[in-house]
Amino acid sequence: MAKIQAIRGMNDLLPEQSNRWQYLEATVQGLLSQYGYREIRMPIVEQTELFKRSIGEVTDIVEKEMYTFDDRNGDSLTLRPEGTACCVRAAEQHGLLFNQTQKLWYMGPMFRHERPQKGRYRQFHQVGVECFGFNGPDIDAELIILTADLWKKLGISEHLELQINSLGLPQERAAYKAELVTYLSQFKDKLDEDSLRRLGTNPLRILDSKNTQTQALLKDAPALTDFLGQETTQHFKKLLAYLDAAGIAYTLNDRLVRGLDYYSNTVFEWVTSALGAQGTVCAGGRYDGLVKQLGGKGTPGVGFAMGVERLVLLLEELQVLPKDLARFADVYIVAAGEGTDMLAFEIAQQLRGIPNMRVVQNMGGGSFKSQMKKADKSGAAYAVIIGSEEIAEQSALLKPLLDSQPQIKLPMHELNAHLSALF
Ligand code: ATP
Ligand code: MG
Repeated sequence: MAKIQAIRGMNDLLPEQSNRWQYLEATVQGLLSQYGYREIRMPIVEQTELFKRSIGEVTDIVEKEMYTFDDRNGDSLTLRPEGTACCVRAAEQHGLLFNQTQKLWYMGPMFRHERPQKGRYRQFHQVGVECFGFNGPDIDAELIILTADLWKKLGISEHLELQINSLGLPQERAAYKAELVTYLSQFKDKLDEDSLRRLGTNPLRILDSKNTQTQALLKDAPALTDFLGQETTQHFKKLLAYLDAAGIAYTLNDRLVRGLDYYSNTVFEWVTSALGAQGTVCAGGRYDGLVKQLGGKGTPGVGFAMGVERLVLLLEELQVLPKDLARFADVYIVAAGEGTDMLAFEIAQQLRGIPNMRVVQNMGGGSFKSQMKKADKSGAAYAVIIGSEEIAEQSALLKPLLDSQPQIKLPMHELNAHLSALF
């Protein structure tokens, strides 16, 4: 019978890989807690309507990328393609937004039916951060400073560029949209098919068209910056001043529009050239209109999402992962000889009394030699060896595995104190 395979674009994560993910996740979580952000967990499935109303009907995601299905009651459900809408839904539903501020984060799988390739999958993972109830540019700055801090911790700062833009308020954007459409309509015969379609549906998206002829046409197009009012400009200028003060370099990119409809004012992306076409590892911005759009009271929001797969790829590409991630034991217990397994259980339990000590007890028997091989493979710094002699003495041999120090014999009751001192 043919073996069943995983679904295209949806990946298994094997132990060799998952330790890299855990390293990244732990680093991100540690940093987020240092900045006072708290975790929120939402379901993976939501009503389809949530995404239609928030992301926008004429975006790539809603038009062609969502995993949508009818459940047994006939309700239209969708595997979440992103987290912001879900987070707003949850925060609103549980009354976290009214008259309060929130700084939230989440982590987990997202689903988009895209063409799978390096850095682009159908099930992928994001760490998302969303802040509610803050109007000023200070929180925009904090989010960017936080991400910059993360790149530093991960050792990838030099390979990431911050691109930033302001999309202005909806009315400012509407005025600009009209001008842009008028301008581009003169060149309908020169626009590619995608852009032509977007001219009627989502003209701003034409700005980030990859088509070179379209890009050339855009050189003389009206600029959004000229349509931004004083308040918008002030917000953006203040944000840039905060970034300057924090020593964070940025590239102003007036073509940066983002694929989702709900953004207003600040938008930004962290981009690398080390991953080929899938170069955006983190993207976000302000979405002051979204909460209201989803039926809540007007609450400002700003956030970002980073792609976990792309970040792990980048860490691998740049070879900046800690060396010892594959190690899964600190101590490996080797027990060879009649009756030694009883003592092995006892010693393993005793050693696990040392906080954070990873103690792997050999399972399944085997010769002394084969057990020692497994001990080496585990990456343990020490083997605790129990033979027939040790049973009688209630002792064990402690053998260093990472250097050529001699092994020593210790009474069982001294093992913990001795090992604690070594770690
Ligand atoms: P792209 O332009 O690469 O399609 P996007 O604008 O659709 O990205 P967002 O919706 O802003 O992406 O999601 C934030 C981040 O999530 C992206 O910057 C990227 O790192 C990651 N991401 C998005 N889609 C995928 C995917 N299909 N596979 C892997 N990572 C993804
Ligand atoms: Mg996309």
